[in-house]
Amino acid sequence: MDFNFTEEQCMLRDSVRAFIERECKPELMRQYDLNGEYPTEILQKMAPLGWYSAFTPVEHGGQGLGPMELAIVAEEMARFSPSISTAYYMAIWGVLNIVHYGSQEHKDYFLQRVNAGKQNFSFSMTEPDSGSDAASLRTRAVLDGDEWVINGEKVFSTQSAAPDNTIILCARTDADAQRHKGISLIFVPKDAKGLTMRRLSTMSRRMLGNYQLTFDNVRVPRNSVLGEVNKGWDYIVGHLERERMSVAAACVGFAKQTFEDIVQYLRQRKQFGKSLGEFQAIQHTIADLKVALDCAQLLVYKVAWMLERGIPCGTEAAECKLFCTETQLNISMQGMRLLGAYGLTEDFGMARAFREGMGAVTGGGTSNIQRNIIARNILKA
Ligand SMILES: Cc1cc2nc3c(=O)[nH]c(=O)nc-3n(C[C@H](O)[C@H](O)[C@H](O)COP(=O)(O)OP(=O)(O)OC[C@H]3O[C@@H](n4cnc5c(N)ncnc54)[C@H](O)[C@@H]3O)c2cc1C
Repeated sequence: MDFNFTEEQCMLRDSVRAFIERECKPELMRQYDLNGEYPTEILQKMAPLGWYSAFTPVEHGGQGLGPMELAIVAEEMARFSPSISTAYYMAIWGVLNIVHYGSQEHKDYFLQRVNAGKQNFSFSMTEPDSGSDAASLRTRAVLDGDEWVINGEKVFSTQSAAPDNTIILCARTDADAQRHKGISLIFVPKDAKGLTMRRLSTMSRRMLGNYQLTFDNVRVPRNSVLGEVNKGWDYIVGHLERERMSVAAACVGFAKQTFEDIVQYLRQRKQFGKSLGEFQAIQHTIADLKVALDCAQLLVYKVAWMLERGIPCGTEAAECKLFCTETQLNISMQGMRLLGAYGLTEDFGMARAFREGMGAVTGGGTSNIQRNIIARNILKA
């Protein structure tokens, strides 16, 4: 087993790291978060670097990088804010879906826009009455001549109001089909007539925003469906492991920085004539956090390694999402304790890390849902 990155992977890691250190300084990330401001300028600066086509297959004009590179990029981008990594990954997720399932028309329209940094995507599946039980969604799209007419409500849709955003909407297109079978993915422009958005007041991903969407007879052209009608669920599942790994990698990147910040504080802060790091009780906490962080990192690499080889990894990807998100949350919670009252202020980063950690263990399938998947796969006959 080789734990070394290739020369090219090291160069990729170093270039993303340098960009993030230059463009995403912690104080700037804090301000974006507190102001609830979308990081358009930062994301647009990635376009000339070719990062939006990095994971597009070579035959579609991209660089064809694989899962290990995705893990590296997702981790590095999240160092000072997981929202940067999320926004970038949403673009990559859109591209991968379009490349694999989209029509030539969709490829021609969207891919050059993404590569130019002029296209964002959001994914809208969750509804007021269907969260973990996502397949029970009720938003309906009905064909009327050459248009789909959409009615329904979505919640917690991340970055739906971002500039140049297209919503990839999960809607029921066959009311008679079984739960997972009658669902399609439909491109809906964020300014479509009949669509209203309300920004929700949430503690996580404030930079990107979470939105409630109401569809009142929204009409989009018939060719707005991604791939085949009623195949939407298969498409979502098709990239699930990659998505879980990238969320997990982002958590590792952000948690590493949070951990470094905690260690630095413990070295400097003195009480009872000693630095806090000299107290054994605190040292044990730090040791436990470091072990968890290293295990989380290894789980990400393991899933990337399996994905690269085409080895089925549903259980491992769920383990990875579960452990890495919970580890990031736990490090931030311990950080809040270890920094005392300063940990509870917005000035020291621990409170933001905690808020983002709660988002990570909830969004994209909660920790309990990952446990369900792992247990089901172990116990099935
Ligand atoms: C930061 C953030 C970003 C998000 N972004 C998006 C987005 O972009 N698009 C989108 O569509 N959605 C998004 N979501 C929504 C997210 O996918 C849902 O919150 C998630 O699927 C859980 O659904 P719910 O909140 O309705 O909770 P529920 O499903 O009601 O669950 C409530 C609790 O019960 C537990 N539970 C539920 N079912 C089971 C079970 N079978 N076994 C054990 N425990 C169970 C859950 O683990 C949870 O603790 C986002 C959420 C967050 C927090």
